[in-house]
Amino acid sequence: MKYPSPYLTVVVIGLLFSLASSASHTHDHEHFLQCLQLQNSTSISEVVYTPSNSSYSSILHFSIQNHRFLSKTTPKPLVIVTPLHASHVQATIICSQLHGLQIRTRSGGHDFEGVSYISQLPFVIIDLINYRNIEVDAETRTAWVQAGATIVFRVERTLEQNATILIMKWQNVASKLHEDLAIRLELTTKAKFEALFLGGKDKLIPLMQERFPELGLVKEDCTEMSWIESTVYMVGSSSKSLQVLLQRTPSLPQSYKGKSDFLKHPIPESGLEGIWQLFKENGDKFAFMELFPYGGIMDQIPQSKLPFPHRSGNLCLVGYLDSWDQHGRDEVAQKQIKWITRIYSYMEPFASNSPRAAYLNYRDLDIGVNNIGYTSYEQASLWGLKYFKNNFNRLANVKTKVDPLNFFRYKQSIPSLMKFCSCENRVAEKFRGEEMQDNSYLDEFMEGTHSFYKNKRNKAKSNTQVPEDN
Ligand SMILES: Cc1cc2nc3c(=O)[nH]c(=O)nc-3n(C[C@H](O)[C@H](O)[C@H](O)COP(=O)(O)OP(=O)(O)OC[C@H]3O[C@@H](n4cnc5c(N)ncnc54)[C@H](O)[C@@H]3O)c2cc1C
Repeated sequence: MKYPSPYLTVVVIGLLFSLASSASHTHDHEHFLQCLQLQNSTSISEVVYTPSNSSYSSILHFSIQNHRFLSKTTPKPLVIVTPLHASHVQATIICSQLHGLQIRTRSGGHDFEGVSYISQLPFVIIDLINYRNIEVDAETRTAWVQAGATIVFRVERTLEQNATILIMKWQNVASKLHEDLAIRLELTTKAKFEALFLGGKDKLIPLMQERFPELGLVKEDCTEMSWIESTVYMVGSSSKSLQVLLQRTPSLPQSYKGKSDFLKHPIPESGLEGIWQLFKENGDKFAFMELFPYGGIMDQIPQSKLPFPHRSGNLCLVGYLDSWDQHGRDEVAQKQIKWITRIYSYMEPFASNSPRAAYLNYRDLDIGVNNIGYTSYEQASLWGLKYFKNNFNRLANVKTKVDPLNFFRYKQSIPSLMKFCSCENRVAEKFRGEEMQDNSYLDEFMEGTHSFYKNKRNKAKSNTQVPEDN
């Protein structure tokens, strides 16, 4: 059956959503659990954990990489599902929609702001902890990493050893060095130059003597190892064994806060002086500012090719990281967060602008968040343009096609361009860009969605409290 207008259907579905969501406050997770049982999903009960389950806390905490979010006041999920099959994921999504619960999807749990396991509204975590197979297709050479010889060096220079002059030089050459050489710079009260080179010492030393002689690199500073060994070395692991890569618990459980910037121009010498001062004031607390050179392949990919837009024209990515041992001491956390905010604010004149760009992997909720309810594209642009530049608009268009009612959402999720206003029981929609002028997909989507929910509700009606649609 074809519906006369997609808007009517949106209103109905929208009303259902709002009813379901308000009803969820009186529901407990029992109805959600019953709903899961009703789905035709093999052995789902074996992968469902509620607070009454003895494994609930250990599973929840296992992938909380940032201990800032281990506190008692951090919102906890009603249920954790650790799927083994796609059907477990499908069942969780269906039941969450029916019972007005939010979903948080967690892989490694490394998100800087914990968005993969925190929600202000009642929620369920889909924890992909059991999705850990690696398939290597030798025939097509997919997921195959050639070991090859790799050179790594790590040299530190203090202010007395001309760190400021070396950083000035680094800013001018790092993005233009050989494509097989990346020198990362880490600033604290001194400068640490850490590099990975895909080749031998005989090639690296002459290259450094030609392009960056001021660093004074000698053969003794370099270590030859395979690429896989370099991954262990680069994270600063004290272990030399590759077995450490199989360890799933973090070796340094800590609380942290991260921020990011991109540099299009070098920080002047006077600017570096202020950075040294800030690190001096921070004392011996664990904090650093890291500069990853861009250039190379990053310059060759057009901005519009992939969602990640920060390509040609950037000298480097800047990451700020501040970490502390929390142990319930909020004042320590507040002090450290204040410090990182200060250095970020100090860096404003030197960083990219209009917008001041940010790196999604270093998630930072300070740059802007969505509302708990409807969020306009304009509001979301506050943070969205920083992460995605012009690609944000395209991402919002895709989001509107696949999830117009914005079921999958969190503090920095891509917004739907459809405006849903439950308070006035009406729906207005707003599209951006030429390609969205054709709304035919909406009819198709709404028809599919309507019959999908109808079937699900009929199935679940006898066992769960689902609001009637008329
Ligand atoms: C110690 C540490 C070191 C880091 N080093 C670097 C670094 O060197 N370079 C760098 O670029 N980044 C780095 N990061 C950042 C890291 O790359 C990002 O936080 C990344 O998003 C982590 O992925 P995850 O799966 O562990 O995160 P999660 O916290 O599990 O997920 C991150 C986001 O993706 C969503 N998500 C997860 N799985 C799925 C899925 N299957 N489907 C849909 N959505 C999903 C989550 O809901 C959340 O929004 C580091 C982080 C930490 C904690």
